[in-house]
Amino acid sequence: MFFKIIAKDEVPDLVRGIATEYEVIGPQAKGTAFVFAPLKDPADLRLDYDMTILPAKRYILPERETLMRFSVEDNEVVEAELDAPRRALFGLHPCDVNSLLLMDNVFLDGGDPDPYYKARRENTLIIGVSCMPAPTCFCDAWGTDETHRGFDIFLTDIGDSYYASISSVRGADLVDRFAKGRDITAEDTAAFQERSAAFKAAFEHEIDTSQLPVLLDAKYDSPIWQEFGEMCLACGACSTVCPTCYCFDVHDELDADQKHGERVRTWDSCQFKDFAGVAHGNFRDSRASRVRYRYYHKQWGYLSRYEKVLCVGCGRCTRACKADINPPRVVRALQTGVVDR
Ligand code: SF4
Ligand code: SF4
Repeated sequence: MFFKIIAKDEVPDLVRGIATEYEVIGPQAKGTAFVFAPLKDPADLRLDYDMTILPAKRYILPERETLMRFSVEDNEVVEAELDAPRRALFGLHPCDVNSLLLMDNVFLDGGDPDPYYKARRENTLIIGVSCMPAPTCFCDAWGTDETHRGFDIFLTDIGDSYYASISSVRGADLVDRFAKGRDITAEDTAAFQERSAAFKAAFEHEIDTSQLPVLLDAKYDSPIWQEFGEMCLACGACSTVCPTCYCFDVHDELDADQKHGERVRTWDSCQFKDFAGVAHGNFRDSRASRVRYRYYHKQWGYLSRYEKVLCVGCGRCTRACKADINPPRVVRALQTGVVDR
């Protein structure tokens, strides 16, 4: 890792330069909200955004993708598609950089990585940017408010400039060619420290995650799950907006000629009624059991395997859920035995 100072007015040139070699995806305003979308003009890049509606995971794990095309007549694969363009995700917050590392554990773990995910991940440049916490953020509760890996370049806002942490050869090469930059001074380091302290002090949430695995073990049969189940609309919005939800469905679709078809992978949600449906029924038939499953998977099952929870505290589900079900509220209910109203 090495460090440079990049003036804010150098960023448009850096973006333009990167765009000559990568499709640049960045946060942009959409009405009163922000979205990650292909960047047509560097002036549209909003590195001061608070949170995007959807995370950038769709550029690594698309909501729908064709895995292969097949011939019914010949009973064989005719084409295996692997759509992995060179992309730059420009402006990911630390929580979203960390979310991709959590996804990597699932898709790249072991000796048989997912080839589609792997190809996209390798072709994707990650440029992170610092943020200030929104009222719904609780990334610090999980330690995902900082990131020391998982990016090529990370830009920390120190006023008129960014304190750039550069951690890959390709990141260094791009900064070298497309941003003038300058060396770090003692004043820059002081500004960096000041900014980091202000960031830590700005969190507003109240969530104590220290005993969570033990609490989950003890509260499996708690009536709070029934209460949350009665509130839940089973809409799946919490999964859709979540940067760490990765469940998918795979099915075959036939063309109109009935001779060819394609195998398709689409996002799925554990909150949908049919998610756990099997030939003889559904082993999570009630909404209560599905809400409970979501929290046990994220805060217990994944933790027991990877020693981290499957949540980065981005707060997107807090904003998206019409029933007001979210991790801080669920943790409070686990601690008190009562769902707060
Ligand atoms: S569970 Fe909610 S807060 Fe946690 S990563 Fe997913 S959307 Fe963000
Ligand atoms: S918890 Fe909220 S967002 Fe998730 S399925 Fe239930 S109502 Fe929808």
